[in-house]
Amino acid sequence: MLDTPSQAPGTLARFAHIGQSAIRGTIRGALGLVLDTALPPLCAACRQPVGSGAGLCAACWSKVSFIAPPYCERLGIPFAYDPGPGILSMEAIADPPAYGRARAAVRFDDVARDLVHALKYGDRLDLANTMGRWMARAGRELLGDADALVPVPLHWRRLWARRFNQAAALAEAISRVSAVPVCHAVRRVRATPQQVGLTRAERAANVQGAFRIPSGGDAAVRGRRLVLVDDVLTSGATIDTCARALLRAGATSVDVLVFARVVAAVRSPI
Ligand SMILES: [Zn+2]
Repeated sequence: MLDTPSQAPGTLARFAHIGQSAIRGTIRGALGLVLDTALPPLCAACRQPVGSGAGLCAACWSKVSFIAPPYCERLGIPFAYDPGPGILSMEAIADPPAYGRARAAVRFDDVARDLVHALKYGDRLDLANTMGRWMARAGRELLGDADALVPVPLHWRRLWARRFNQAAALAEAISRVSAVPVCHAVRRVRATPQQVGLTRAERAANVQGAFRIPSGGDAAVRGRRLVLVDDVLTSGATIDTCARALLRAGATSVDVLVFARVVAAVRSPI
C-alpha cells in the first residue's frame, strides 16, 4: 500500500495546470445565470475575462480581419488594389448569383469562427449585438435601400435542438441599429445535411427546394427590397437558393448581409 502513490498530489498537479479562465468557464457553465452578474464576461475567442460589452479581449480584437473597400461591388470580395468604381470580380462575372449584392463584416478566420461558434453553440447571445453592429456598418448601402431583413431560417428540427436561430439573432441586432424591420418571410421545408466536404455542384443540389414562402406570405415579399441575413457565407449555394425563392415570390431585389465570408486570398480585379 505504501508503495502506491496517493491520488491527491496528481490531482492537485492537474488542477495547477488549469488556468483561472478555464476554472471560471467551468463554474460559469455549471452555475450559469447565478454567476453572470458576479464574474466579468469571457472573451469569446480565448476565454480570458474581458471588460463588459465588447465580447472580445484587446488581443483577439486586434486579430479581427474587417472587410473594407476596395471590393467587388457585387460579391463584396476584397480586392488587393482599387480598380475604380463598378469593377466586378471574376467570380461575379463567370457565375453571377441570384442575389444582387453581398457584404460581409469580416473574413472567416480563426477569430471569426470562434465568434460564430460562441454565438451558435455557446449560449453567447450577447455577441449578437457586437456582431450585428459590425454587419450594419459593412452593409450600410444595402440597408439604406432595404424594406426588410430576412434571416436565413433553420429547419425546425435544428431550431429545436439549438433553441435559437443565430441568423435571426443577428437580424434583430442589425434592426436595432438600422431601424430596418425583420421579416421571417421564408421557411426551410427540408433539413439539408451539412455542406462540409461537398463540391460546389453537390452543395447546390443539396439545398435545391429547401426553402419556401409560407402560403399567404407573398404579401410580405412582393414588390419589396429584401436583405437576407446569415452568419457565414461559404459557397453561397444555400443563400442563393433562398434568394431565388424570394425572387420567385415577387421580391423586387434581394441583397445578402453576413457576418463572415470565406475569402480564398486577396485577389486582383480582372
Ligand atoms: Zn481573447
